[in-house]
Amino acid sequence: MPDIRILDSHVADLIAAGEVVERPASVVKELMENAIDAGAKKVSVEIECGGMTLIRVTDDGCGIPADQLERAFVRHATSKLRTEYDLEAIGTLGFRGEALAAIAAVARIRVTSRTADAELGAVLKLEGGIAAMVEEAGCPLGTEMEVRDLFFNTPARLKFMKKDAAEGAAAFGMVQRIALAHPEVSVKFIRDSRQELLTPGDGQLQSAVYAVMGREFALGFMPVRGSGEDMTVTGFATLPTCCKGSRNYQHFFVNGRYIKSRTMTAAVEEAYANRKMVGKFPGCVIHLQTGLNKVDVNVHPAKTEVKFVDERQVFSAVYHAVMAALDGEKQHPAAVMDKPRPHDTVTPNQIKFNATPIPRPEPKAAPTSLPLHDFTAPKAAPVQSPVQKPVTPTPARTAPPTSVTWTPPAEKPAPKAALAPVVKPEPTPAPKADSVPAKAEVSEEPQEQPWKITGELFDTYIIVQQGQRALLIDKHAAHERMNFDRLKAEGYEPMVQQLLTPAVFTPAAQERQVLAENLPLLAKFGFEVEEFGAEALIVRQAPFDVDAAEVVNTLTELAAGLLTTGRADPAAARDHLLHTMACKAAIKGGWKSGPQELERVAKAVMDGSVKYCPHGRPVAIELTRKDLEKQFKRA
Ligand code: ADP
Ligand code: MG
Repeated sequence: MPDIRILDSHVADLIAAGEVVERPASVVKELMENAIDAGAKKVSVEIECGGMTLIRVTDDGCGIPADQLERAFVRHATSKLRTEYDLEAIGTLGFRGEALAAIAAVARIRVTSRTADAELGAVLKLEGGIAAMVEEAGCPLGTEMEVRDLFFNTPARLKFMKKDAAEGAAAFGMVQRIALAHPEVSVKFIRDSRQELLTPGDGQLQSAVYAVMGREFALGFMPVRGSGEDMTVTGFATLPTCCKGSRNYQHFFVNGRYIKSRTMTAAVEEAYANRKMVGKFPGCVIHLQTGLNKVDVNVHPAKTEVKFVDERQVFSAVYHAVMAALDGEKQHPAAVMDKPRPHDTVTPNQIKFNATPIPRPEPKAAPTSLPLHDFTAPKAAPVQSPVQKPVTPTPARTAPPTSVTWTPPAEKPAPKAALAPVVKPEPTPAPKADSVPAKAEVSEEPQEQPWKITGELFDTYIIVQQGQRALLIDKHAAHERMNFDRLKAEGYEPMVQQLLTPAVFTPAAQERQVLAENLPLLAKFGFEVEEFGAEALIVRQAPFDVDAAEVVNTLTELAAGLLTTGRADPAAARDHLLHTMACKAAIKGGWKSGPQELERVAKAVMDGSVKYCPHGRPVAIELTRKDLEKQFKRA
């Protein structure tokens, strides 16, 4: 029978380290949280080699007295908690007294610190958890934690680390989230000697959002504000037209703590139901403030998940706040930040707000239907009658109403419009969704019968009649697919346009990085982009398929796509660019098309070569004669 033994403290610490210290990003998180708990107004985070060789966090907080420096690294040593009762209302980010011990066990540490009442500071070095002597040191008020050679003594863990670039990106993501969580703290991030982020720390959430997410992104935000029983909700969320391709842009905070919350995610997405494109996700930065006793933060090792005493209250508060912002958005245009002028050097503290929406003349490309949720709102959530409004898709503020003739922007010659102006049908009320028994896709077998085009609806849907059935073809979706297949087979050889005024823009740091990494690929697609100063990019040339006014938006879109799909996979990155260019080069819903163009698109669908657009939406729906006869009670 094996002996039961008490693990020696070093081994015990390593086990705890598995929980708290997974990778450089988790070290960054713990050290930054300690700095904020210490009342810092400024926190600087510096990393080298993705944080594997160095993480240095410097703060101007209260400091650690010399005689307690060593004790801070003892397991379960904390200044934040005394009795078990304190656990019921935790107001600090840390509380377990484990982080420093766990980090010290797997790295080489040098900490320097000085409190306000000490003339001299103190320095302590630790290696693998073993402390040397505390020595006197001259240093500014506050604390500097230097963590070197993470996992140097745990090769097994070292094996699990990703490339430095990936670890660095995760650490940066952590810094950004904490910066968004604490707009009152000025957060600086330096990677391999290059400063990548500086928030002003002026206490304004929008300043932090601006610094972290970039000006282009912030342009698409509307403010969110609301309150529920014993809680307030503040923050920003994307305009329905500016939703994103993934959930990466959703950030939730509770009492200054970054958290993942299915309830809050569901509440936000529920509010956007019917207002955004299928497969798009709202971005948001949502802060919830509530009583310390309304939330239990002691349920997750990394403290990123919390338990609310009443999840339904949280759902309701967030849902209604976002809903109110969306509803109010049409009457009171959202506060949007000034559009940058080329060569502007605006610092984050100079953000201005104005009340004019920025027009985005963008015809709606495809019918909106119910969004796909990965997870649905909790059943208990109070969604019964959130707002007594029709749930028909709300046309986006800047999209043209379907019954009005929309002319393409002047820069783009309306292609082939003159060939044969199609008579616009009189606006008719949209049929109720359940009254049209439409099948969502075209029958599988190619039908040999002859077909003909009998008209076009709303300059968007081609009507094709074939035997006893009719098809409505979404001309944009179908044409996009045709383009994509052709580009994929033949490669993209762009016609390029020199921009009259080169476009200078400041994307979010991660977006800038991914674009900078892909400059050669972008050049192949006709975008001549260069780095411009430390934060901006300049575009001098773009493919002709992209409107000059859309160049920056397109690049931002490309960056977001590259971040989610194509980062590590060149083929996926190339496909992503092909998708985007196929879409940009496609005829748009709402544009007038000549008969040959309609014919070409219809033919591709009818001969079966095109079934779905590259985003997976159907390109056509089918109505049979029987369906219609049933509707008219002829059968
Ligand atoms: P916890 O944060 O859960 O208390 P840690 O192991 O992270 O545990 O830190 C232990 C203690 O060290 C803290 O309670 C705090 O008193 C002190 N400490 C750590 N970092 C700092 C800092 N940057 N400034 C001041 N005190 C600090
Ligand atoms: Mg801590």
